[in-house]
Amino acid sequence: MKRKALVLIFTAVFFVHTAAASEVTVMINGKDINAYNGIEPYIENDIAMIPIRAVAKNMGAEVLWNRETREVSVNDDIVFQIDKQYAYINNEPVKLDMPAVIVDGYTYVPLRFVSENMGAKVEWNGEKDIINICADKSPVNNATISSGTISENAGNSNTVPAASDENYFGGRKWSAIAEKYKNDASVDKLIFVKYKGDWDADVIMYTKDADNAHGWTKVASSSAYVGKDGIGEASEYVSVTPEGDFGITAAFGIKENPGTQLNYIDVTDSIYACGDREYYNKIIDTSKLDHKCSGEHMIEYVPEYNYGLVLGYNNDGIYGKGSAFFLHCKGKKPYTGGCIAVDEDTMIQMLKYANSDTRICIYNE
Ligand SMILES: [Zn+2]
Repeated sequence: MKRKALVLIFTAVFFVHTAAASEVTVMINGKDINAYNGIEPYIENDIAMIPIRAVAKNMGAEVLWNRETREVSVNDDIVFQIDKQYAYINNEPVKLDMPAVIVDGYTYVPLRFVSENMGAKVEWNGEKDIINICADKSPVNNATISSGTISENAGNSNTVPAASDENYFGGRKWSAIAEKYKNDASVDKLIFVKYKGDWDADVIMYTKDADNAHGWTKVASSSAYVGKDGIGEASEYVSVTPEGDFGITAAFGIKENPGTQLNYIDVTDSIYACGDREYYNKIIDTSKLDHKCSGEHMIEYVPEYNYGLVLGYNNDGIYGKGSAFFLHCKGKKPYTGGCIAVDEDTMIQMLKYANSDTRICIYNE
């Protein structure tokens, strides 16, 4: 008996009922990922499991793996914990049909999660056992398709609107900054510090990438702490992280240079971050100067100054306007005196990417 091929777009419930698990083909935007990457989707207990990286990559999303926590994050918004039953979307738990797992080095998640939570449309051609994931990364202005529409058609994939730049960068303010610097040849990296209130922020670093539909690809991210008094107008007399858009002037560390292109200051016993009038807001080597420094003896700040980047704030060294503003590693306290503190792993990653064409942008999220 020959049945008419039926193609459904599932938005709420997704079933795969087939015994011939190995015969299922998963296509992402028309590409057979089995053939294309040697990454095989599979079906277990009627649940289709797909490699998240392959899908996310096709959506222009960035996937980061945290080896320590065994977490996979997609654009920071979605976090899967390996072998755990819950994923987190913007920190809200969502139960998975099956826990995320690692197979041959790839993280697999239930297909249904992707269809329901990542803006992708999933079609299942039951007759041919083809699962079609439509995850178009280029923004499509197609007013005729609204999310949640269930349509039956002749089998061609619908084009769905992709996440806009605004979503990709986490809001209009951030996408405007990204847009502004996209065509500015003097800017190559962006570090966004998104202040969330109290002492909390998120830090995300991007590198310019012409192959990415958004113009930028995320290379590192971390939760972060800022000054005890939040962000705003900084000075020597308050613990405020300066709000605004600054360059990066140097890198430093008590530990060895992990490979930054920036001038790297090895923090030895004679290195100080000066807060005195004479060398205000400069990192100095007191063994080479006739100056008894009352500033920060940087080598004592472990683990904070294991690695850091120097913000191009108050470059003129105006006394009192504030000194020693760094992006550095987290310490014991959940706040800083005005610096921005991130996870050490992230700090290393940022040092590797940072160069003299890096901007750090600090604003309310
Ligand atoms: Zn000094």
